[in-house]
Amino acid sequence: MTDDISTYEVKCRTCRAKFKVQLFDSHDRNLFVVDKKDWYCDDCKKAYFSDQTLKLLKEQMTQGFHDLTGTEKMVSWAVKIRGEILNKVDYLKKSLRFKNEEEKKQSDKAFESLFSEWREKTEAKWWIDNRKMTVRDISKRAAELEALKTGK
Ligand SMILES: [Zn+2]
Repeated sequence: MTDDISTYEVKCRTCRAKFKVQLFDSHDRNLFVVDKKDWYCDDCKKAYFSDQTLKLLKEQMTQGFHDLTGTEKMVSWAVKIRGEILNKVDYLKKSLRFKNEEEKKQSDKAFESLFSEWREKTEAKWWIDNRKMTVRDISKRAAELEALKTGK
């Protein structure tokens, strides 16, 4: 078994630029990977991720959320986390069952309060710190905010 580190030249699928990668498998296996894998150079990878971030951010802005502050890396990560958290809210909303219209209205208001609170969180760091937020946490916070407002 050879586990040498070998350097291979590959071509970026997007811009066709050649760049070097290090592979750790046997030479035959490496050649196979060099040939079969879709390689992207760092610049194209970065452009791809910022495209994805921008797309997500635009989606979030239609829901009243703002751009985030922080380093480029943090913002990109935070936007992704915020997208996942918003998906959890969607999931939670769909799983809720109401006895009547009044209950549904109450619940909608609670989520609206939660969104208002989140819209103020414009630092990437806040989202990163809260990346482990679960559906249960979301539900609890929405209920808390609603209780604060109605004084229950
Ligand atoms: Zn490229």
